[in-house]
Amino acid sequence: MIDRYLLRLRRDFDGEVLTRDHAAYDPARRPVGSAGAARRPLVVLRCRSVRDVVAAVAFARDTGIALAVRSGGHCFAGRSSTDGVLIDVSGLHGVDLSADGTATVGAGVRLGQLYGALHARGQTLPAGCGATVGIAGLVLGGGIGLLGRRHGPTCDRLVAATIVLADGSVVDCDEHREPDLFWALHGAGGGQLGVVTSLRLATITEPMTARVALTCPDADPARVVASWQASAPDAPDDISTSLELAREPGRPVRATVSGVAVDAARAGGWLHDLAREAGAGAQLFVADPVPFTVAKRALADPCQDVGDGRLRSEYFARPMPAGAVTELIALLGGGDARHRRRLTFTAMGGAYNRVAPEATAFVHRRERYLLEHVGHRSDSWVDASWALAHRHSSHRVYPNFPDPLLDRPAEAYWGTNHARLAAVKRSYDPQHLFGFPQSL
Ligand SMILES: Cc1cc2nc3c(=O)[nH]c(=O)nc-3n(C[C@H](O)[C@H](O)[C@H](O)COP(=O)(O)OP(=O)(O)OC[C@H]3O[C@@H](n4cnc5c(N)ncnc54)[C@H](O)[C@@H]3O)c2cc1C
Repeated sequence: MIDRYLLRLRRDFDGEVLTRDHAAYDPARRPVGSAGAARRPLVVLRCRSVRDVVAAVAFARDTGIALAVRSGGHCFAGRSSTDGVLIDVSGLHGVDLSADGTATVGAGVRLGQLYGALHARGQTLPAGCGATVGIAGLVLGGGIGLLGRRHGPTCDRLVAATIVLADGSVVDCDEHREPDLFWALHGAGGGQLGVVTSLRLATITEPMTARVALTCPDADPARVVASWQASAPDAPDDISTSLELAREPGRPVRATVSGVAVDAARAGGWLHDLAREAGAGAQLFVADPVPFTVAKRALADPCQDVGDGRLRSEYFARPMPAGAVTELIALLGGGDARHRRRLTFTAMGGAYNRVAPEATAFVHRRERYLLEHVGHRSDSWVDASWALAHRHSSHRVYPNFPDPLLDRPAEAYWGTNHARLAAVKRSYDPQHLFGFPQSL
């Protein structure tokens, strides 16, 4: 019976229909990381047009086979992998920048391509790292990046979107047309409301930025955390930093602060104060200003190491007490670590928090920082460290860092916006065609 549906699908489909016997099937089914890598879709539908997406959604709906939507394939929880119908939108990869500074971006565009195209026109976006991350997955779950303290999460730049709904209709939405759906796409649209085919994003003039860093090889990591968490979330908006505590096998824990700044002189002063408070031999580095895209390329992608590992994270609305920081560092440095471990604190505040929590589906507008615990899949340290920090967290989780182990996922991802999101879901996907564990 499936063959009959496949035959009909092929008649309307411009893209590729890849079943398990096809040579291109295996590379096409694989996500980027290990989450979901074992899933073997019945068919991968590589869409090239909105018409293809409509046909793909109809195929899943008519056959009753579960579907997943994929753009860049980076989901940490494997939500863009399935054993059913994989709708891959990577063939929708146009970028069109208008004179008014808005960019119409196909849902298959990756960040590297997008930054490059905008940079060529002197524009950019406050978006994430990771050249192969999909802009669709990033925007639909929020979007944290080096210009976020200045301009907010990437989803705040969304001015319109086109989406294929469960019933096959193609809907253009913005603040006037389908406003509830449009509101939900700002941080809660990943794989649970429909297939977004394009996004219209308000770009910004690309600023000159300087890479900044503070290495603290001999400093007490607890002291570095204390001074960083007291000041980084309140630093001027144009200074965006993360603090990494890394444990390499056989080495002590080392603290490094890194990021970018638009005003290099001001950032130098701020880092200088931080270095003084951190104590013992901290070394400052402030690079010459270069266009943001160039500065970003030179920074290591912080999530690159998650690949085969595991990431758990939470937001913190208050500084963590000194005792908890000491325990966290002891845990990071303790035991027999055969693989690299890291804790990364990323400063929020600034423009992230200047929007009301209910103004967009992205509710995380009152946080000081995000803390990631990243380690090897087999390292139970990730869970122990997360549980220790959790006692002081705001119990909120960034939707783009999904965590399958959460007790109360709806509250963690959506907070006070959950009831409105549930209503949007009932209205636009009443049969629950789009879903995964923890979805609306
Ligand atoms: C190496 C790496 C670097 C990262 N860096 C950052 C960073 O700097 N900042 C940050 O905020 N996050 C970062 N992330 C996390 C990233 O934002 C999320 O993993 C994001 O969801 C990835 O989007 P994707 O399109 O690549 O992934 P996918 O796995 O394709 O999609 C992610 C989710 O969105 C859904 N989705 C994808 N496309 C569509 C669509 N067209 N319509 C509807 N739903 C769709 C999927 O079904 C899935 O649920 C990083 C992740 C990795 C692995």
